[in-house]
Amino acid sequence: MPRKIAAGNWKMNGLRADLDVLRAIAAHQAASVEVLICPPATLIAACADLPLGIGGQDCHVSAYGAHTGDISAEMLADAGARTVLTGHSERRADHGESDAMVAAKTQAAYRAGLRAIICIGETLDQREEGATLSVIDTQLAGSVPDDATAANTVIAYEPVWAIGTGRIPTMEQVAEVHAHIRQRLADRFADGAEFPLLYGGSVKAGNAAEIFAVANVDGALVGGASLKAADFIPIIDALAATSS
Ligand code: PEP
Repeated sequence: MPRKIAAGNWKMNGLRADLDVLRAIAAHQAASVEVLICPPATLIAACADLPLGIGGQDCHVSAYGAHTGDISAEMLADAGARTVLTGHSERRADHGESDAMVAAKTQAAYRAGLRAIICIGETLDQREEGATLSVIDTQLAGSVPDDATAANTVIAYEPVWAIGTGRIPTMEQVAEVHAHIRQRLADRFADGAEFPLLYGGSVKAGNAAEIFAVANVDGALVGGASLKAADFIPIIDALAATSS
């Protein structure tokens, strides 16, 4: 599997009528890039046969049980997903997910044979307080299980203030945080140098190339710009251009 990953997070967007978007993205593969979309759970089974990585956006910690409205990692795998996002900032904010909960969901993903994309990132207040790296340390320590490996885990650095806002950090800030994450992973895991590290937060065609040129950026987690093939395909191409 290539280490470069272009991942799209459709959040609570997408109906069956939008499957054509996934077909168009699937038709535009780049050999050096893993292309992955996390559609709403309702579309996973419908797109599982496309030549495209498919992921869930969240999973419950349990495999089954009395948890109305929730979806287990096993159910995502059964529907055709191979990956799941854990700890997205919208889940942390909207559903009060703690680092411990994110770690438990990530272990549920491993149990079901799914790879986890664990999302971490600081709020604007935390950045302005100079707390970014300590927040990253806390989230890495609390959200990434001890049995994480470069094969079952991807880390997505997503500054909360950059998600859906059109604002992005400077490339120096991206480089600083990604280097810090890389070092922490290398300190803790034998294969820490190999974990794919994604940047997320207002990635679009116009800024993708400069983001992908930053050291330790192995791809992107993309929200809004993954909803249209015409917006997402140039991001795939920009990543492929950095991979050769
Ligand atoms: C996201 O939701 O993970 C994300 C990065 O969104 P956007 O690209 O829209 O900022």
